[in-house]
Formats: sequence, C-alpha cells, structure tokens
Amino acid sequence: MGNTASNPCRRRLELRGQVQGVGLRPCVYRLARELDLAGHVANDTAGAVIEIEGPPDRLDEFERALPDRLPPLARVTRLVRRELQPRGQTDFRIRRSQRGDSHRPDVTPDSATCRDCLRELFDPSDRRYRYAFTNCTNCGPRYSIVRSTPYDRPYTTMSAFRMCAACQREYEDPADRRFHAQPNACPACGPGLRLIRPDGTGLSGDPIATTAILLRNGQIVAIKGIGGYHLACRADRDEVVSLLRRRKLRDGKPLALMVENLAAAERICRLTPADRAALLSPAAPIVLAEKRPGHGLAPSVAPGCRDFGVMLPYSPLHHLLLAEGLPPLVMTSANEAHHPLTFRDDEALEQLGDVADALLMHNREIFRPIDDSVVFTFRGQVVPIRRARGYAPQPLMLPDLAEQLHAAPAVPGRVVRGCAPRVLAVGGELKSAACLLDGDRATLSEHCGDLTNPAAYRHYIQAVTRLSELLLFEPQLVAHDLHPAYLSTLYARGLKLPRTGVQHHHAHAVSAMAEWGERGPTVGIICDGTGYGTDGAVWGCEILWCEQGRFDRLGHLDYFPLVGGDAAARQTWRPAAALLRQVCGTAWRDVFAGEPFRPARSGLSPSAEAPADYATTFEQQLAAGLNVRPTSSLGRVFDAVSFLLGLCYENRHEAEAAMALEAAAEGSARPYPLDVASEHRRVRFSFGPCLTAIVSDRRRGRPAGEIAARFHETVARTLATAAELACALADVRCVALSGGCFANRRLLSRLVELLEGGGARVLYNRRVPAGDGGLALGQAVAAAWRWRDGTGIEAAEVQTCV
Ligand code: ZN
Ligand code: ZN
Ligand code: FE
Repeated sequence: MGNTASNPCRRRLELRGQVQGVGLRPCVYRLARELDLAGHVANDTAGAVIEIEGPPDRLDEFERALPDRLPPLARVTRLVRRELQPRGQTDFRIRRSQRGDSHRPDVTPDSATCRDCLRELFDPSDRRYRYAFTNCTNCGPRYSIVRSTPYDRPYTTMSAFRMCAACQREYEDPADRRFHAQPNACPACGPGLRLIRPDGTGLSGDPIATTAILLRNGQIVAIKGIGGYHLACRADRDEVVSLLRRRKLRDGKPLALMVENLAAAERICRLTPADRAALLSPAAPIVLAEKRPGHGLAPSVAPGCRDFGVMLPYSPLHHLLLAEGLPPLVMTSANEAHHPLTFRDDEALEQLGDVADALLMHNREIFRPIDDSVVFTFRGQVVPIRRARGYAPQPLMLPDLAEQLHAAPAVPGRVVRGCAPRVLAVGGELKSAACLLDGDRATLSEHCGDLTNPAAYRHYIQAVTRLSELLLFEPQLVAHDLHPAYLSTLYARGLKLPRTGVQHHHAHAVSAMAEWGERGPTVGIICDGTGYGTDGAVWGCEILWCEQGRFDRLGHLDYFPLVGGDAAARQTWRPAAALLRQVCGTAWRDVFAGEPFRPARSGLSPSAEAPADYATTFEQQLAAGLNVRPTSSLGRVFDAVSFLLGLCYENRHEAEAAMALEAAAEGSARPYPLDVASEHRRVRFSFGPCLTAIVSDRRRGRPAGEIAARFHETVARTLATAAELACALADVRCVALSGGCFANRRLLSRLVELLEGGGARVLYNRRVPAGDGGLALGQAVAAAWRWRDGTGIEAAEVQTCV
C-alpha cells in the first residue's frame, strides 16, 4: 500500500516549560476536537504530554496551530516529538495528573487578575460580583499556594475548600475558562474575608467598604494579600504616612504605592511605554518611576528619592478596595524590623497589632510567603531589583551554558566530566536568594532579604528547602560566597556536599555573562558596596577578567581606609574623611572642619559614635588600626560625595546616600578630571582629582545638582576608560556590568552608552538583579564550570553523574 496519507498515525508531544496550571490542557482539548483527533493530554511532573492520533496531515496541522492557541501564561521552552503505534482510539480525553516522574516540573508564578475576571468582579449580574477571590486558569495565585507538584488542587492550600456544584461544573468543563483552575472558588464555597480590630473583635458591614472608610479616615490597615500582609494607609497625608513610619520603626526607606489604575499612576509618575507595560503585566511588580512634579503625595513616602515605587492592584481584593475611590495607598510589606514578611494570621495579630488599627484577613492559607517584586525598566525591558512575586520560580533558560559545558575544550591535563552538575548556589547575605541550577535551567528562589536576623535565616532555609522539594531537586554541588562569616556560607558548609567558594564580584560578573550566554573571556566591571576580597580588603569596584569558572583581577579603585567597622558603611562622613585625607594631604582636617563640610554642623545626631571632633577621632582610630580595612568600594565613594554635598549624613537603609545623590543630579554635565591609567599590566583608577574639584566647587557655592551630575559623568567616564584599558590588556571586546551600584540608572545608562560607543559588546543584568539578589546565578554557573574542569572543588569524595 503506497498511499498511507489517510492511515491514522499516533504522535507524542512532550511540552516542557511553564505549561502546568495555565490552562494548557483545555486549549489542547479544544484544538484536538476541532481537528477531529483522538488521544489525550495530561500533566506530568516535568510538564505536559499530548498524544494525538489521526491522519498525518491533521497531526501536522495540530502542531502548526498549537503555538497560536496556547493560553496567555503558557511558555513552552522545549518540545520533544515521538511517533507511536496507533491504537485505534476514537475520542480525545484530558487525563488526571500523575505523580512519580523523575523530571523537574515548572511551577507558574502568581499572576495578576485577568481582564475576564475583572469584568465579572464588577458585573452585578455575575455570581462572582464583588468576590475577592475570583480567579481562573489565566490568573490568580499559584506559587504562593502550591505545596507540591503536580499542580493540582489537592496539593495546594485550596484543598481546604470543597467546590460547590457550580464551581465543580466549571472546573470539569473543558470549554470553560475555569477548567482545572486549581484555586477556583465562589462566594458559596471559597475563601472569605473578615475585618477585625487588633484585639480580635470583628467590624461589621462589608469588609472592603469598611476598610475603605478606615483608610479614608487616615487609619492604618493590615491587609492579607497573595504572598503576605501589607500595611496600607492613604499616601496623600503626611501625618498619616509619618504615623505609619513611627509605628513601624522604618524611617527613610521608600514605601511602595498602589494606585487604582494606569491613569492614576501617570498622575504621580512619569511613565515610559515600558513602565506601563510592566505595571500591566501578569507579574504586576512595583515599578520605580520618576516622581511627577505636583504629584500631591506626602513627602514622607519616598524622601530623598527621585522615584516612586508604584504598583497596580493585582488581586480582586485590591481591585475592589481601590475602586472605592481611595487616593493612592501606601502598600508596604508588613513585617517587624529586619524580620521576614508576615504571612500567617496568628503572627499578623501578634506582630501587627501595635501598628495597624485593623486587619483585613482571609482564610486562604499562604504556603510560600513572597514579597512584591521591584523593577525598573531600561531600554524597554524590565530589570528586577527585587525578584519575587510574579517572577519566582520561573526558571532562566541557559541553553548556551549546557552546550558550552559539553563542547568547550577542557583545561589541559584535567578530566572533563560528562555532564553539567546540579548546583545549589546559596547567594550572599543581604538581599539573599538561592539558585538551583539543573542542566540548562537556573531557578532563582524568591528574594529572602537580610539573613543577619535569625528569623530571616530560618525563612531563607525554609524557602530553599521547599523550592528544592517542589522541583525534586537534589544538588550535587553547593556554591557559596568566600565570606566565611556569611550565614549562607555556614549553611553551605553544613550540607555535606562537595562545595566551591566563588568570590563575590566574580559571581556578580558571571551572573551578567550567564544571562547573555557568554562564557568569556570577558572584562567584568563590577560596581558594588561590599564584598569579601582575596587579599583581606573589602572589595567593591573591580575590573575582572573572567572566563568560565576563573577570574583574574585586572584592576580596581585605589584603596582607601574604611574606619570604624560597620559604622563606616552607615555614617557617610567616614568615607568622606578617608577620601579627603587621601586627596588633601595634611590640609584635610582644615577642609573637613570648615564650611560647608563640618560634620557637627550637618545635622548629624550626636551619638556615641559621632564624636565632637571627628577629624581627631578619625586620625586616632586610623593610627590605632582598630576596625580599619582597606576598601575599593564604589558605594562608599557615593556616600562620601553625598556627604560633601550635604545630601545624606547617614544610611538609615541600604544605599540611601547613593539614591539621594542620583536624585539630586540634574541635566547632562561635563566630567571632572579623570584619574585612570594602565600600569604594569594592571588598571588603576581613583576619584581623587574629582573629589578635589568637588570640594572647591562646593566652597564656591556651585549647586549640588550640577556637582552630582558631574560626579556621575566622571564615574561613568572613568569606568568606561578603565574598561577600555582592561579590554586592550586582555584582548577582548566584551564587557559585563554588574553589582549593586547598577541600580543607579543614570550610571548604568551612561556607562552602557559610552562602552557601546567605543565598540564593545556590553552585557548587563536583565533577568536577575545586578545587586546581591542575582549573586546566586553567578555562583551556580561558575561552580558548574569548575565541576566540569575538576578545579576549585572542595570535596572528600568525587561524585559522578548518573
Ligand atoms: Zn482570570
Ligand atoms: Zn463555588
Ligand atoms: Fe554585591
């Protein structure tokens, strides 16, 4: 029989990526039925499997049509096709989920309310009218409620609610938008709201309408959302916002805002098209955007910042609340100082009772607490600063890395291992996040905050453990920072696995390289606050040559002394004194004690650490050598200039002084004289001449905005020149930018412009934060290279791949 065109064939399609819990199965079902194909579709723990049976031309048609028919949240990263023996099946079925496959599944991030659900929410004739937990397969909570995979209702915190007949019908109807929507619920069967006073007594009336009244009256309400509790209050009254700050012990740190819609966001911020797209995206992050003059909000919302952090309502609860005609609201993560996010109801009552006048609670349990994400947009793309809700645990695909690990020539004389290892990278200490690298997929955990607090450390361990369980991930190798006292390092050491320490700034550089599929050699320009160096100094502004798992330090910012231990990173007069001492010689004390720099005059609160005669104390501490470390930190240079311009005397939160300096900078500007050179095959640079010029400009009364702009231009040009010199030394044309200072968009955009203008290929972070929140990605990738090359791994026993 030559003609087989009409003979049925059977084909198996394995879909990998974000395909569970996004409504893939009903879409597949509908397409198969339209084409009159038999077979089935099912989730497995690795993704989804489709088997279709029918005439081969129609199987092909199915495959052609599938990409356009995928639901909005689906993301297929790999498709494997296999031909099977036809079975003579005549119907198409959706199969229930199965457990036990050994592959890793993907779990979808929590997703903002979709348009269809929003329409129903405000439709008086809909049975979900004003129902605060409306969701469907295209939207709603995911990661925050899932206990384990496969993503099915019994394995989520929605297992506590039994669907009513109407919900069950939707859930089982492949033609319905809520087919297999695991958190499906309605007012008759799903979670509900309750509004209570901190003493536990209930408030009567519609919880949302009453909450709106409280907020309008200037009260503070704790509101349980998707990933945890927020503290909310109206943002247009300074006495209200100040009260929140007083009760929450949180001076200075900018507070996030939630506004009703895009138009309301436009009224307080200048938005680019990319900002608007980010605000409206399913991730619904906090977007940093420039304050609009005349915004009308309280000065205490984001003092000293150029930007507001603004987000749109992302759950039905938020939509209902903001639709009550409220002004912009402060919506800040509820937590005790330095503690992780409050997410349990009993904790909320205990911890937020002193802060909030009322609590708006609900009985859908949060299994994985997760903060709001914070992003800015650069060149039309979202760049995360804090990567959490809406992004975690979406993996980064690194197809180039997997290929390169196999293909690249090994170090001579070393054994090349046959596969990429599974690496757990534990990150740093502040803004911590872990990375689970498995083959071509790197999954970053949600942002876990500052590990120096025991509660935050426990939260971090739990988040990492739970993510590993969810992804069925068993690491072969653990990567950590070189800092011996980081709690993450101690955690790594306790895991009894082969491990490798990755230098802080090397990890930063590799994080940017990995995002762009670059294995080096590359010149890394790392601009950072603090990192453990290999020479006992506190590294910060580094020029590194990086290739695979190795690096060489090609240069750095000239060292200056950090005097006073931790106080040197908090009190901005300390780095200012150190740098003045370097540039002014013996005259530095006169400059420092004179106008307009005299610290005592500058509103510094007199405390035990702020002595009357700063210069004398500084000299004494320096001479004694106690708590004195050399540093190349660029963050501290920003602090110093912020001090000299009278902008910020104390970093009450991380980077406060640097943010004030960025906010002050006005217009484009000429640079101050540069000091950068190539000597003995190393690049050195300083901001000495720049600081001298700043001192004299300041004495002549030049405006701070102009000086701040010229300082930024000087830093950008110095780094661009340093990069060019390093590229010439190393004979490369590729530059990676990373480190916490690149949250400064003025610096980032100017430096990228200068480097690209010079013909370099420039890599910068777009998927993970440039700060320590992205560190783990670089650690993991550097570790994978070392594993392959058999170098730099500390282990008693050598493990082999299976
Ligand atoms: Zn929806
Ligand atoms: Zn129901
Ligand atoms: Fe860092």
